Amino acid sequence: MKNLHEIDVYPRLSLPVRSARACELILENGHSVLDLYGGHCVNTLGAGDRGLERVLARQWRKLSFATNLLAHEARAEFLAALAPTLPELPAGERWGVFCSNSGAEANENALKLALDATQRDVVVTFTGAFHGRTAGAAAVTDGKKAFPRAPFEVRRVPFGDAEAARAAIDARVAAVILEPIQSLAGVVDPPAGFLAVLRAACDAAGAALVFDEVQTGSGRLGSFWAAQHFGVLPDVLTTAKGAAGGLPIGLTLARERCTRHAKHGTLGSTFGGGPLVLAAAAEVARRIAAPGFLANVRAASAALVNAAQRGPVVAVRGAGLLLGLVLEEGLSAAAVRDALLERGVLVGTSNDPRVLRLSPPLTLLPGQAERLGRALEGLSAGVSR
Ligand code: PLP
Repeated sequence: MKNLHEIDVYPRLSLPVRSARACELILENGHSVLDLYGGHCVNTLGAGDRGLERVLARQWRKLSFATNLLAHEARAEFLAALAPTLPELPAGERWGVFCSNSGAEANENALKLALDATQRDVVVTFTGAFHGRTAGAAAVTDGKKAFPRAPFEVRRVPFGDAEAARAAIDARVAAVILEPIQSLAGVVDPPAGFLAVLRAACDAAGAALVFDEVQTGSGRLGSFWAAQHFGVLPDVLTTAKGAAGGLPIGLTLARERCTRHAKHGTLGSTFGGGPLVLAAAAEVARRIAAPGFLANVRAASAALVNAAQRGPVVAVRGAGLLLGLVLEEGLSAAAVRDALLERGVLVGTSNDPRVLRLSPPLTLLPGQAERLGRALEGLSAGVSR
């Protein structure tokens, strides 16, 4: 097109995709690729899920869109489906939810609530963190792609350093935000007890503990939420990506201590909380909570970990279906990713040049993991360093 081009911000793979079904991508040349990247944690139920298709078609015919000023059945159904999945709160407390369209927005809204509720001006974040590209989310993200100025004061602590975290969390801190397992950083697990240290430090300082579960939520770790996987209760949870199985969504879930100052107009969104996306999110939540679903995530995870014992992988990090494969010293993850692609398996890279990321659909069957094992076998020899 002469007068239009896309701004060149994505390093695209040469992988022309014609269609996808479940965990398989079908390329233009008719070849099939096992999708162990899952659209970046988005394709929770796999591509083209029939159940989700039926829900969307029914909702589109019934009520395709409605302003947030109107009550409708899809919203009530979404709340009913999500409620039983949430981490248990102390007696008498309940979660509040706000629906937006993306992970960045979900985090932006989380920080806004915490700053407002505490009337403080400092946010603690961690090295390696990724929380999104809008102003507030970028301010707590580690890296050079942030906005020129942060909208609040940021204290950045080495991820996993309990002493440094304790020292940073004082009475000026409104919120401490982190990914319970850092994904883009290279699937970095928190050291044992680290999240509990943050919980205690936030309690002592009166700060809000915010878990960014944009990737770790919606069943990814084999529990519905990372908060349950690690047994640590945050004050605010955010999620996005896979929560509506492929439709844009952001969710900010907050305890009443963080929502007490929220009034009409504090938060808002045109599309967030629309009936179509909420119908999808309700279906995704129901499916993840259905018997056997999370057991399959755990079984598929174990099968992938087992398959990754071959070839150039020296360690596996992460949990459930968010896994990081650490490669032999000197190997480049991008080169190994390309070599795996030639063997019919799509995986992701990360900010750690030695770590590949796996985040397949949660419907991956344990038996499909063997394809990764075969593709990894004998790989180190032919891959550039
Ligand atoms: N938080 C985490 C942990 C993420 O991985 C991402 C996206 O990759 C975001 C936030 C931002 O989400 P979005 O791209 O939907 O704004």
